[in-house]
Amino acid sequence: MPLKAHNYWLTTAEFPTTDPTLLLPEVVDVAVIGSGYTGLSAARTLGKRGASVAVFESETIGWGASSRNGGMVLTGLKLGVGQLKSKYGPERTRQMYAASLASIDCVEQIVNEAGIECNFSRCGHLEVACKQKHFDDYQRQAEIIAVEFNHKLRVVARSELHQEIGSNIYFGGLVDETSAGCNPARYVAGLAGAAIRAGAKIYEHARVNAIARDSRQGGLGWKIATSRGQVWAHEVFVGTSGYTGAVTPALQKKIIPLGSFIITTEVLPRALAQELSPRNRMIYDSKNYLYYYRLTPDGRMLFGGRAAFFPENDQTIRRSAQLLRRGMIEVFPQLRDARVEYVWGGTLDFAFDVMPHAGQADGIYYAVGYAGHGVAMATYQGQKIAQMMAGDNPENPFVGIPFPGAPLGLYNGKPWFLPLAGAWYKVLDWVS
Ligand SMILES: Cc1cc2nc3c(=O)[nH]c(=O)nc-3n(C[C@H](O)[C@H](O)[C@H](O)COP(=O)(O)OP(=O)(O)OC[C@H]3O[C@@H](n4cnc5c(N)ncnc54)[C@H](O)[C@@H]3O)c2cc1C
Repeated sequence: MPLKAHNYWLTTAEFPTTDPTLLLPEVVDVAVIGSGYTGLSAARTLGKRGASVAVFESETIGWGASSRNGGMVLTGLKLGVGQLKSKYGPERTRQMYAASLASIDCVEQIVNEAGIECNFSRCGHLEVACKQKHFDDYQRQAEIIAVEFNHKLRVVARSELHQEIGSNIYFGGLVDETSAGCNPARYVAGLAGAAIRAGAKIYEHARVNAIARDSRQGGLGWKIATSRGQVWAHEVFVGTSGYTGAVTPALQKKIIPLGSFIITTEVLPRALAQELSPRNRMIYDSKNYLYYYRLTPDGRMLFGGRAAFFPENDQTIRRSAQLLRRGMIEVFPQLRDARVEYVWGGTLDFAFDVMPHAGQADGIYYAVGYAGHGVAMATYQGQKIAQMMAGDNPENPFVGIPFPGAPLGLYNGKPWFLPLAGAWYKVLDWVS
């Protein structure tokens, strides 16, 4: 098969169909913007609580990062524990780490409750060290995490690493058995089905163009203009992640959209797949400009990375296919003759402090900033913020932490600095 610029996961998933002629209701309790994990998890929770919910999606269900990612359901946050402790103190760091573990339980519980067939499996993740000093740090990390969070990680010495991965370029590894893997497109499709069954209505090809404060029959709410008409909502929840746009300008200025790209090979012979990843882990390396990879449930190698910093377009996708194939062969020379069949890209959302942020600003609820850990955390934040909207007071350590914008306010939502950021990350990988 010739290389297709197409998302492999979409060939495996069936999405719920929605009625393109359905008229918008006049009034809803909650308008949700975005139909990825964040928006759909919120819609499901709110629907189950009896709220009337309309989910607006400018493209189709799960069109954003939620159908395009690596399907790695990971523990931990992008920032290390040391950095978290110095920024937020030990207690809040403990809560954040606990939330990262709870977010995986949250995905598992929804998958089981809603009967979502997305190959969810607690296969664990493996981080591999690209330098000796990265490996030396694993021992320290594992000790801190065991003592402070009572969570066990396993350090794998270089001499034992062949039990985990069929590559000999790394200096050792760190395994967390709690992490999981799934088929992300099937998961988001199933989550949409669960939200619909909970009573939420999803409107596809319904771009939200404007949100304005408005009162109606004495109640304060929001007038929402979409490409399919207008609706009045008591509350608004924004889950637009790396695709956050000008309709929420304050949020747009705080989110950096970063491109990430993936290739998948043809289905590999079973023995070769077993050699490359004997324990079928979700794997990523220790660089800033990192590679992440795994086997798909049908036995392809899925290999991803930030091959270009810019979000996906024809040019960045084509170029990524070459760069990623080269990277894949450096890791696994055994794949030199394997055909690459699919390449695609998607956009991640990074906050300037590389942390998730959620809560309410100027009256609008939001959850964003997952920095490549969104399969679990987006699902979790959608649920937690929905509970908050329903009047509960759930523990959520990401609410209320400072949400910085660009230094000196030098960012208007157009990421002019991405080539610089890309170069900076490469420099960091040489020196750190
Ligand atoms: C290539 C890639 C690989 C990744 N790998 C992993 C991984 O292995 N593990 C992991 O944990 N995370 C990973 N991530 C990150 C993860 O996919 C995201 O964090 C997560 O999907 C975010 O979900 P979301 O619902 O917040 O946003 P999205 O899924 O991006 O959904 C946002 C939606 O909002 C819609 N939208 C935007 N503006 C409007 C508007 N005005 N009106 C209506 N709709 C609008 C968009 O069309 C989009 O569908 C990866 C991301 C990418 C791109």
